[in-house]
Amino acid sequence: MRTVSLHATWDPKPDFVLGQKDVEGKSTYLGSKVWRNPEIKIVEKEVSDPGPTEVIIEVMACGVCGSDVHMYQKSEDGYIYYPGLTAFPATLGHEFSGKIIAAGDLAINKRTGNKYEIGEAVCAEEMVWCSYCRPCADGFPNHCENLEEIGFSIDGAYAKYIKVDARYLWSIEGFRKLYGEEKMWLLGSLVEPTSVAYNAVIERGGGIRPGENVVVLGAGPVGAAACSILRRAGANAVILSEPSAIRRKMALDMGATHVIDPINENVADRVLEITEGHGAKLILEATGLPSVVWSDVEKIIWEGRAVNTTVVVVARADDRIPLNGEVLQVRRANVVGAQGHSGHGTFPNVISCISSGMDVSPMITKKIGLDEVEENLTMLQTDRDEVKITITNFE
Ligand SMILES: [Zn+2]
Ligand SMILES: [Zn+2]
Repeated sequence: MRTVSLHATWDPKPDFVLGQKDVEGKSTYLGSKVWRNPEIKIVEKEVSDPGPTEVIIEVMACGVCGSDVHMYQKSEDGYIYYPGLTAFPATLGHEFSGKIIAAGDLAINKRTGNKYEIGEAVCAEEMVWCSYCRPCADGFPNHCENLEEIGFSIDGAYAKYIKVDARYLWSIEGFRKLYGEEKMWLLGSLVEPTSVAYNAVIERGGGIRPGENVVVLGAGPVGAAACSILRRAGANAVILSEPSAIRRKMALDMGATHVIDPINENVADRVLEITEGHGAKLILEATGLPSVVWSDVEKIIWEGRAVNTTVVVVARADDRIPLNGEVLQVRRANVVGAQGHSGHGTFPNVISCISSGMDVSPMITKKIGLDEVEENLTMLQTDRDEVKITITNFE
């Protein structure tokens, strides 16, 4: 089968120190300090037979993620942008859905409690948590110390077939009735990014009570999905701030009730105006520019009449937050970090929400084939209007 694989040269920067879990020449937790001259190649690979707990999935849809863009994007000195866990060469792709075409005898379907049947529609977690380390054993798989990541450190789903252990799979058969087969695959590929948003605003942010106001900063896939989830959770105003007009329009289709253009409007003033001075219960930082947005965040907390705001930091950023502790103290506010999508009932809850009508597909703005991945990864390095590009042709 044809795969879209990322190749790069192991060439550590002078200040790089091989970490405890890094493997010289092969695998590192600090990608941008090591990998140089990334290349996208179409490579022929085969999948081996599944082990007892594994399945083979025929991939039907796979989303292109910002991380994929950053693994291919390089700075002037040739090093990749992506700062995290990577082992190259690897087939990219981690936001996928597909059908089971082979299953080991112990590959249990969590929907039925029995072995996976051929043809079952599934999606998968991207984080291959170990289940043995302290964070895993304590119930926090998003912080696994022996993590592998599908499409980053092990082969992913920019390919016709992928082999995955059944423990990371979730059935999406519940989508079939409401959406039909074609849309079922698209929605299945959005469960992973939607689960990142759910983990951020519900699990880490503590959720909301019906009637509360929320602010989402940034309408990438995670910010957009957060609009859907918070609206579904009963938010009064779901206020989205995003510079791209196309993305603002998409966010309204996803569940935002109000949109703000942060280039031409003052975000905090508009939030206070929309909420009649109450402010927000929850603010999601999904821009990756915390030092730019934080003055607005603090003004909403400081001047809004409601206390107890929680700010959730979900976007990754090599940046410092200019935070004033006094604001948190006086306004009884919290700042929490969110990472990952596994555990805590997140995947099954997102799948239930979509099954019963939470249609997150407006975030898909383009569909492509495997041959078009490279040109789109290049285009996305500068484009801000596409939200989610999805591969639907794997020939
Ligand atoms: Zn992703
Ligand atoms: Zn672990």
